[in-house]
Parts: sequence; C-alpha cells; structure tokens
Amino acid sequence: MKKTNDILIESAEIVAVGTELLIGQTLNTNTYYLANQLTLLGINSYYQSVVGDNPERLLAMLKTALTRADLVITSGGLGPTADDVTMELAAEAAGKKLVLDPVSKQSIEDYFTSMGRTVSDNNWKQAMMPQGALTMPNNNGTAPGAIIVFDYAGKKKAIACLPGPPGELELMFEQSLKPWLERRVNYEFEHRFLHMMGIGEANAELEIKDLIERQTNPSVAPYASPGEVCFRITQRKMRGQAEADLISPLVEEIKNRLGQYIYEDGARTLPEIVFALLKEKNQTISFAESCTAGMISAKFGAIAGVSEVFTGSVVSYSNSSKEQILGVPSAILQQYGAVSKECAEAMASGVRKVMNTDLAISVTGIAGPDGGTPDKPVGTVFLGADYRGQLTFEKHIIRGNREKIRTVASLRAFHLAWRCLKEKSDNS
Ligand code: AMP
Ligand code: MG
Repeated sequence: MKKTNDILIESAEIVAVGTELLIGQTLNTNTYYLANQLTLLGINSYYQSVVGDNPERLLAMLKTALTRADLVITSGGLGPTADDVTMELAAEAAGKKLVLDPVSKQSIEDYFTSMGRTVSDNNWKQAMMPQGALTMPNNNGTAPGAIIVFDYAGKKKAIACLPGPPGELELMFEQSLKPWLERRVNYEFEHRFLHMMGIGEANAELEIKDLIERQTNPSVAPYASPGEVCFRITQRKMRGQAEADLISPLVEEIKNRLGQYIYEDGARTLPEIVFALLKEKNQTISFAESCTAGMISAKFGAIAGVSEVFTGSVVSYSNSSKEQILGVPSAILQQYGAVSKECAEAMASGVRKVMNTDLAISVTGIAGPDGGTPDKPVGTVFLGADYRGQLTFEKHIIRGNREKIRTVASLRAFHLAWRCLKEKSDNS
C-alpha cells in the first residue's frame, strides 16, 4: 500500500456496526479483538460504541468519534445488501465521493469465479470506494476494506472500514491495517503480568498503593477475576528505540511486598504451572472430586501432553462411593461428615493409593444453593492433599453462586497442588 496523506495515530475508537449486535443476537467479538490489537500497538482507546444499521445514527456516531480520536475503525456493514451502509457513510463523514475501484472490482470478480459462481449485481456495490482511499483486499470474502485519510476540523483524521465476519476482519487487520498502523504510531507498549492468589484485590492494591499513585511510566493496573488477582505492569516506549527496562525494578519491588501470593510472573495459567512442575520433577498427580465433579480434571485435561503426569481421577459424590472407591473410613463420615478436613485428607490419600501417584488433591464442599448449615455454610470447601504420604488441607469459604463456588474451588485445588510441589522444591 502506498502512503498518501500522512497522519500520526495516537488514539483510535472502534465503532461496531450491526443491529444484530444491539439486540444480543451476535456477540461483539470484533471490538474485543480490535481493542486488544490496539493495546498491543500502543494506540490509546478511550471510547467504543455499537450502532445499528441505521444511516442517521451511524453518521452521527462517526462524526462524534472523529472529534475524539485520530482514527475511527468500523466493523461490519460492508456487505452487498441495502442495510450495508458503512462505506457510504464513512465517505460522507470524510467528505469524499464514492467511486468505482477497479482493483476491488477485479478481486470481487476473481473471488466469484474461483467459487464457480457469477457475480450478482449488488456485489458491485462493494467495489465502490471513497475517492482517494487505500483499499484493503479481503482474502477471506468479498467485501474489500478501506482506509480514508482526510482533514477534519483542521486536523488529520482517518477512518478504517473492516468487514463484519470475524474471520475476514481479523485477516484484513493482520495483513493490511496493522502494517499501515505500525508505520504511523510513535509508541509501543510492553506488558508484564503478575498473577496472585490468596489475597483480595483491595488488599493487594493497598500493599502497593504508593507504587500505583506514583506511577506514570510504567503503570500498574490491578484487576480481579474469580479467585485471583492480577497486576498488569505496562511500560510505554518509543517505537524502534532501545530504552531502559523500567518494568523489572517495579516487578522486583512488588515481589518484595507480595511475593508469597504470586504464583506466576508471565502468562501461564495455574494448571499449566502445575503441569510444568510435575513434568520437571517427573512426578504424577490424581484428583478426587466431590463438589467440582470433574471440573478440575477437565481443566487439567485441556493441557496438551498432560497424560505424562496425570494418571486419573475419581468423581465421588455419595458417602458410599467415598467409602468403597476412595476408602474413606465410615467413622470419619459419621463423626465429621463428608465436608470436613478429615474427609478431604482421607479422599486425597484414597485416590493417591488407587491411582498410584506422587501427589493427590481432593475437594469436598457445599456448592449450594441448598445444604448449608450454620457451622458449614454454602461455599464451605475443604481441599486435601497427599504428597508422598504427607497430608495437608485447606478450608475456604467461597462466596457466590454454585458456578462460582465450583470454579473457585477448582482454582484453589490447583493452587494447593502448586504449593505442595513448590514448597518441596524450595526446600530441596
Ligand atoms: P456485516 O458485514 O455487518 O453484514 O456482518 C456480517 C456478519 O458478521 C454478521 O452477520 C455477524 O455474524 C458478523 N459480525 C458483524 N459484526 C460483528 C462483530 N462486531 N463481532 C462479531 N461478529 C460480527
Ligand atoms: Mg450487518
């Protein structure tokens, strides 16, 4: 693509077009994808919007977005039908006329020929491009995209129109828009992620409040998901220049304060970390799952190559299966109940024996909504571990609905496995 009219892109705004998005028929994955890509490119994004296939509202939206961002990226509405009006309105917002683009016309013809079909009249509409636009070929469909650069209220602005189908949008972004953007941004962002468990978001933030407050570059952003907290540390750098690493000293400082909770400095998930540790030690694991009913095993089983370290699991709900398969003594069940430290440890020992593994983790709890008692409310979860004969347990009270309790219990189970494997390697 040739460079016509130059522009520096510091901010971009995504406008997703389509009534199907507004009514909840289609999940807006294009905005999610594009937002992530913009972040990776170091382009700021302050607003996002969704607008239906309505010419007045779309034109108004484009104009509003142009007052706020250097670049507006649209998704959708490039098809051949009457409700596909994005290109036309992008041209109008940019003050350009639509003209027939011969290259796009040819590629639409080639696309149909290659599929053994003839071009229908309304398909030519897709070859109408704003005058002076850079066209982006669609290598996964028919509607080409376009980048229009123009003067808007005394400033250089751009609109990039991408097609709606995610497979087409992503390929066009990757092949055309991304390289175009890379030549027009000054900065790039480098990110590092610290994952923590066993501390809440508010407390984690409190521990590093001074670091967050004093931040400009790099910046620290905490965010929480069920059961865990993550800090994203971001350094803004001038593109293409070697700059000092400002992230590492900050990460070290955070580790000094919160090290005991941090299980990952990187992108791996807890199950992946447990898998890596087991592989490194040449050891095996098994699970006994009561209230999670296979969730832990399913998460672990999703990792490629896991059969090297994963022997098997027992899903055990009833007391009789706990007794008969896992060998939990009936005296424990009678005296302490199935949701107890004693039962959790016996389940772990039992499954370790049956599956003949180095480590075994068990879960037993009350996922609700019924079954809670004053001393064992809904969300009470006991985890047991048997690591080569050494027993441990954890008790948690997890708040939330049944789904959340089971999800967090599963994460906690991996955290306990990680603790067992890690403590042993720290001491050895
Ligand atoms: P369009 O180009 O607007 O006709 O969109 C074609 C198809 O792409 C739609 O029917 C949706 O299935 C899909 N689509 C459009 N916009 C989005 C979006 N923002 N996220 C995910 N899929 C989308
Ligand atoms: Mg549409």
